[in-house]
Amino acid sequence: MVSFHPDSKFLTDFAAGSLAMSEAVCVAAHLEFCGKCRAHVQQLSDVAAQMMARLEPIADEHDGFESLMQRIDSAEPAAPQESAVRAGRPALAASGIPRVVEKLAGGNLQDLNWVKLGGSLRIAPMDVGCKRRQTAIYDIKAGRPMPEHEHRGEEITVLLKGSFSDADGKYVRGDFVVRHAGERHQPTATLDTDCICLVSLEQPVKPSSLWYRLMEPFVQYRLSGFSH
Ligand SMILES: [Zn+2]
Repeated sequence: MVSFHPDSKFLTDFAAGSLAMSEAVCVAAHLEFCGKCRAHVQQLSDVAAQMMARLEPIADEHDGFESLMQRIDSAEPAAPQESAVRAGRPALAASGIPRVVEKLAGGNLQDLNWVKLGGSLRIAPMDVGCKRRQTAIYDIKAGRPMPEHEHRGEEITVLLKGSFSDADGKYVRGDFVVRHAGERHQPTATLDTDCICLVSLEQPVKPSSLWYRLMEPFVQYRLSGFSH
């Protein structure tokens, strides 16, 4: 059961369309798992629409999820548009992965450009048209730990598949986990299955020596592949 949710500031900013794209994608992915937050965003959108209606005689209905999809569509003018996604229905794809993630991945997550970092972790950077933050899919092997690392800025993790634990608790599919600057942690995937996460990083993690060694190919990849 999902037990970690975006706080009300995330949901309010999402409904207002004012989150950075990388954060908005994380909130949208969580919404596909979580009816409670979907209802909250809908409520916020209704309030916003009512306020707008008072200000202007004719106001468009505001829908956080739909406006995000429109932003994604406009950021990728060449991408084929899937009608179900364009309609903004907040529901998981047949694969069990959020539609917003499948769309950004261009279909199957396995087809992304994975970079292997040691024996337990691989990372696929995702270009969501956001220069302020890094977005990526992490795949942690079942039962294996990620290197311990410290954050320089905020990190959002949305669990798409499997589960992981760290010193603070256990996190399952759909959970929206936020870590802040200065926090150290070492997530370990649980034994039963690989753990796949959507991650949005405000700043690169602080390079402890092991982490730096592991991150190096990823950093180089980013520099060459995402220099726009
Ligand atoms: Zn929620």
